Amino acid sequence: MGGLFRTGISSYEPCFVVQSLKRENLVLSDEEKQMAKTLRIELNKCFEQQVKPFLKSLANKNLLWYETIDSKLKQSVFSESSWRNLPNLSGTYLLSDVIDQDDALSTQFYKDGKWIVSDYFLGAMIKKFGDDTDQIMRALRMFIFHEALHFSFQKLTENTAEGIGRFPKVLERADYEADVWAMFWEYAFSSHYNLTSEKSPQKFFEALHLSAVNTMWAFDIVESDPDEMQLRRIIRYLSLYFNLARILDRKVVDIVSIANQLGSAPIIDIKGLKLKADSEGRIIASFVEIDLPNLAIGVYHSNKVHRLGTFGEAFNVSNLINAFKRRESDSLIQFAKKIWELIK
Ligand SMILES: [Zn+2]
Repeated sequence: MGGLFRTGISSYEPCFVVQSLKRENLVLSDEEKQMAKTLRIELNKCFEQQVKPFLKSLANKNLLWYETIDSKLKQSVFSESSWRNLPNLSGTYLLSDVIDQDDALSTQFYKDGKWIVSDYFLGAMIKKFGDDTDQIMRALRMFIFHEALHFSFQKLTENTAEGIGRFPKVLERADYEADVWAMFWEYAFSSHYNLTSEKSPQKFFEALHLSAVNTMWAFDIVESDPDEMQLRRIIRYLSLYFNLARILDRKVVDIVSIANQLGSAPIIDIKGLKLKADSEGRIIASFVEIDLPNLAIGVYHSNKVHRLGTFGEAFNVSNLINAFKRRESDSLIQFAKKIWELIK
């Protein structure tokens, strides 16, 4: 498992958050470095005193992963073959892993069973989430669960990961599965330890989606040019915002209906943005050079094709692009709700 995350031209991106490692863009104050150190200690405490006992409590149950989380999920789409075969959280390598406490400057995220959460990684989160430690811990757990599925089960390992960003469709599917699976485990973990302040599963999954997009933004704000974004990353944001809109639908009332929404991956595309390949062959979309008459969203959902172009101010796709450019998460949520209203 050593050397999973490498740097340099052929670097593997831990795909939950980081699109490239432009560390020079992030300067941490002494106070922020101290906060990062405290967070590493907190994460270690959470991993040893909560995550591992939780994993041990799962290990003896001879149930499928979603039945372990909630027996009602037997009635959900997770019982279909594409979801059914995923492992329990206790079936990953996490029980024998540790959180590294020494290497604050590493460019790797995982090496020889050690999770290395660097000052850089934590610094981006501190700048986004401030001193909201609970929020950062939740984001770190979801990151670890997501990555654990990649290399414990999905065969996204050091042997297959190099340059994986140039297989956008393969990565999109692997990521989608890992996101949904990680969110349901965070739900189970938080229920187990009563960490939830949200009043309903719907509110809880809303919070998880906000955590996921805010974690992505934490790194985009530090690393990327606001005038452009990797196309794969735009689609990933759209998919998360779209799912947020779906689970906020009034018809979604319980854990089974949430599973049924998230269990069918949205297929979303966008046209009208000028595309180019970067030096590593990844597709980058411009938010400045836009072919306005052609700007539109395409969605395949519930066996139907939807083409959504601008119609007046009520649905103006330029506003969506401006929201990306200005990194306005709330506007993206509002836009995703409109997309959902139009196609559901
Ligand atoms: Zn990933």
